Amino acid sequence: MRIEEVKKIKKEHPELIEEVEGACRFCGQIAMVEAVFDWTQEEIDEVAVERCQCMQAAAYTAKKEQTERACKMIHRKFIDFEESTKVFLENTAKLVIDYEIAKANLSLTEEIKCTMSLDKDGKIRIKRTDTVSSEEKA
Ligand SMILES: [Zn+2]
Repeated sequence: MRIEEVKKIKKEHPELIEEVEGACRFCGQIAMVEAVFDWTQEEIDEVAVERCQCMQAAAYTAKKEQTERACKMIHRKFIDFEESTKVFLENTAKLVIDYEIAKANLSLTEEIKCTMSLDKDGKIRIKRTDTVSSEEKA
């Protein structure tokens, strides 16, 4: 989220933050928002969207927040995997969040599985299952 980025930078370098006009690209409402001094108008408008109360902006922002949370969760849960695998999982999560696919069942290794689906509230569930099997011959 851009708002969180601004908050973080403001804490460490308040001199980099300025009040500028941003526009919600859904309803066109103009608002004064805090942004980093070298951000483009598009980046500033993204802050305005995140703060806007209109229905489309709220829906867009809620989805963006969910996607960001899912990506963080993937990085945490699958920390032992290659970056390219994490990117693949992130893209899969985005498809689930966008209702492009209903459910993903992935076998990352023989032992590690990942399933993703939306619950009844529309929140994504990302599940990792590790099965350790040990077989010995005597
Ligand atoms: Zn708006």
